[in-house]
Amino acid sequence: MAVTEDAAEIAGELAHLRRAIHAEPEIGLHLPLTQEKILAALDGLPLEITLGSALSSVTAVLHGAVPGDGEGGTVKREGGGGRGAVGGGPVVLLRADMDALPVTERTGLDFASRIDGAMHACGHDLHSAMLVGAARLLSERQADLPGSVVFMFQPGEEGCGGAKFMIEEGVLDAAGQRAATAYALHVASAELRAGVFSTREGPMMAAAEALDITVHGRGGHGSQPHHAADPIPVACEIVTALQVLVTRTFDIFDPVVITVGSFHAGTTNNVIPDEARLQVTIRSFSAASRALAREAAVRLVHDTASAHGLTATAEFEGSYPVTVNDDREARFAAEVVADLLGGDRFWPQPHPMAGAEDFSFVLDQVPGAFIMLGACPPPVDPATAPFNHSAFAVFDDTVLADGAALFTELAVRRLSRQSHG
Ligand SMILES: [Zn+2]
Ligand SMILES: [Zn+2]
Repeated sequence: MAVTEDAAEIAGELAHLRRAIHAEPEIGLHLPLTQEKILAALDGLPLEITLGSALSSVTAVLHGAVPGDGEGGTVKREGGGGRGAVGGGPVVLLRADMDALPVTERTGLDFASRIDGAMHACGHDLHSAMLVGAARLLSERQADLPGSVVFMFQPGEEGCGGAKFMIEEGVLDAAGQRAATAYALHVASAELRAGVFSTREGPMMAAAEALDITVHGRGGHGSQPHHAADPIPVACEIVTALQVLVTRTFDIFDPVVITVGSFHAGTTNNVIPDEARLQVTIRSFSAASRALAREAAVRLVHDTASAHGLTATAEFEGSYPVTVNDDREARFAAEVVADLLGGDRFWPQPHPMAGAEDFSFVLDQVPGAFIMLGACPPPVDPATAPFNHSAFAVFDDTVLADGAALFTELAVRRLSRQSHG
């Protein structure tokens, strides 16, 4: 039977799983309840499963049928490691992230979050369900698979760099050899019509840096600034100078965004504080602009403070590189969508998105593609619907079957392409 028909048959179960994950969202690297639900949904499939050590990840490996390979149920192993002992042929990695956001849900859905202050506002609940669907569909096709598939269920995408930890624990080599290709799907609650897939060649998502700045002054009486060293005007100058930096230093066709999202100093009107703190995000779309932005922002902070006789510290608190699609894999994904579901289900993404993704760490090492999937529930207009991360963001279950089918078809065709040269 066709992949899309098989996927449609399990659509109800995938929606059920997605709603269960949605109702009990977990944030960060440790998601025991989510991990448990995914393991239960994979139970009985012919997979080799490894649980993460540094995070509650699930790595599941499906080896295609190779001569002499016995029958096998689910094999579970504890700890990082993750090197398969059997299998031949190339390896495709499929990734879903599993974590939620610190948002209080306001959708009013009957399966809305039951956990205060946590919500699947980025749709990672759908990603997990779609990847479970792909694991089921590909398990049914195990005998015809000329290679192996790694299913990467990853916690901590939202700012924790979970992908990096999974790479350190061996996910890229989990099938016994390095994955040849990696794909990830990401749903969008706005901008794309439900069921429309989208990707592009080259940069797909921005690099993101979190920069923490502290301007160190010397506090005093608000009436006698000459006896103090006021950090507030210096911090204000840094905010303005960062915006000037953006407009004067970077090519407008290789853009950079700098936003000061947090500015804290002082306690009352007549006291000069000791310090001012700024929290900044920097977005860029090429390795060159990224390096320049990092270096120039830090220099500007130090030199502006020094110009006024103060000092400042500027520290990067974690960052994600540019998510860069492999040109050939992006074109391949577009072809597979069109073949599987029709040409009107693919929209070529005209420019990269300014969000960031830790799938970038995977694509830094393995060629692949990051693919968006519209999940705005009709008849809501995608142009005005609340976007991912909003407390009102709603993602439509009806895209789950096609997401699982696309993951499946990408793996099947990619493995055959590789094994036939
Ligand atoms: Zn997100
Ligand atoms: Zn996300």
